[in-house]
Amino acid sequence: MFACTGYAADAADKPLSPFSFERRDLRPKDVKIEIAFCGVCHSDLHQVRNEWKNTVYPCLPGHEIVGKVVAVGPEVTRFRVGQNAAVGCMVDSCRSCASCKEGLEQYCENMFVATYNGTDKQTGENTFGGYSDAIVCDEDFVLSLPENLDLAAAAPLLCAGITTYSPLRRWKVGAGQKVGVVGLGGLGHMAVKLAHAMGAHVVLFTTSPSKVDDARKLGADDVVISKDKDQMAAHASSFDFILDCVAAQHDINEYIALLKRDATLCQVGAPEDPLAVAVFSLIFSRRNFAGSLIGGIAETQEMLDFCGKHGITSDIEIIPIQDIEKAYARMLKSDVKYRFVIDMKSLKQAA
Ligand code: NAP
Ligand code: ZN
Ligand code: ZN
Repeated sequence: MFACTGYAADAADKPLSPFSFERRDLRPKDVKIEIAFCGVCHSDLHQVRNEWKNTVYPCLPGHEIVGKVVAVGPEVTRFRVGQNAAVGCMVDSCRSCASCKEGLEQYCENMFVATYNGTDKQTGENTFGGYSDAIVCDEDFVLSLPENLDLAAAAPLLCAGITTYSPLRRWKVGAGQKVGVVGLGGLGHMAVKLAHAMGAHVVLFTTSPSKVDDARKLGADDVVISKDKDQMAAHASSFDFILDCVAAQHDINEYIALLKRDATLCQVGAPEDPLAVAVFSLIFSRRNFAGSLIGGIAETQEMLDFCGKHGITSDIEIIPIQDIEKAYARMLKSDVKYRFVIDMKSLKQAA
């Protein structure tokens, strides 16, 4: 075991604060990464505050991890010391169920091991995430980063990037299609960039009039203020696909009504309470309401390579870890442009 430091919360109503803990010594296929940057996902906030009712404390979040390889186990073949590498939302899975065999580890029938708030398959211990100085991970769950991408701005690709890339690919988004993205936060701004790069006509729905210009710069062809009923009605029954990236309660039926016959609204935003679907809106146009969870490891690497090829990264605001609670407060006000990324050098400063 070796000593680590990070920021963790002891309870749902407690702020994140400095935390000392130990990580395992390297197993034969393990890679040890010194964490340079970690993105701040809205899931971190949901989890730390126990909004999904399954948090194990202490909770040390962070699943958009990038840094440098500082040690490798004797059986590691794909990574070497000194190279940059990344870890996303998963650090292990059963590797033998039908989903794992198809490279869909996120749907592991025996539950994948989440990077934080997961249960280590060998020790049974709660996993700790990327708001820390180092992480140890089996090389099968470590990703390679394209060298042309800025390291800090690439961090959010590990969750916001793959969570939006995977459904865009699954529903074959491309040229000639009208695609909606709901919510311009961390996930939403990646969805706009990726759908634009895939050649779709992209319409961004936002509750924040102040984000209209940014949305166009990020790649949206059109922007709709979702609170404006006339603007919404102008798009009735016209979308091939809509990706909903909203973290809070909202009326999903306003968006389902904008789908063409047979088209799909995919939910990736995960508010704590259920969303009510008006079934007749589905029935009368044979529309689909679907969900999607992050993406498999192979697809995450495909997404990173796609971003490398297209020069796509996240628009970020770098913060010291001491400002994490301020970042969460801004996130709750939809005031994120468009992903906070923690500079892990700040961990060494006095708390
Ligand atoms: P975020 O940066 O906070 O963005 C959420 C955006 O939703 C806001 O910027 C805002 O955009 C919009 N919004 C917020 N409150 C709203 C409301 N009351 N009504 C309508 N729109 C509202 O969050 P994120 O990190 O992108 O995460 C988004 C959600 O996805 C979270 O629930 C997160 O847990 C979930 N998630 C799911 C997966 C998955 O695998 N399915 C993976 C990662 C994250 P506007 O200002 O443009 O309206
Ligand atoms: Zn996330
Ligand atoms: Zn499995």
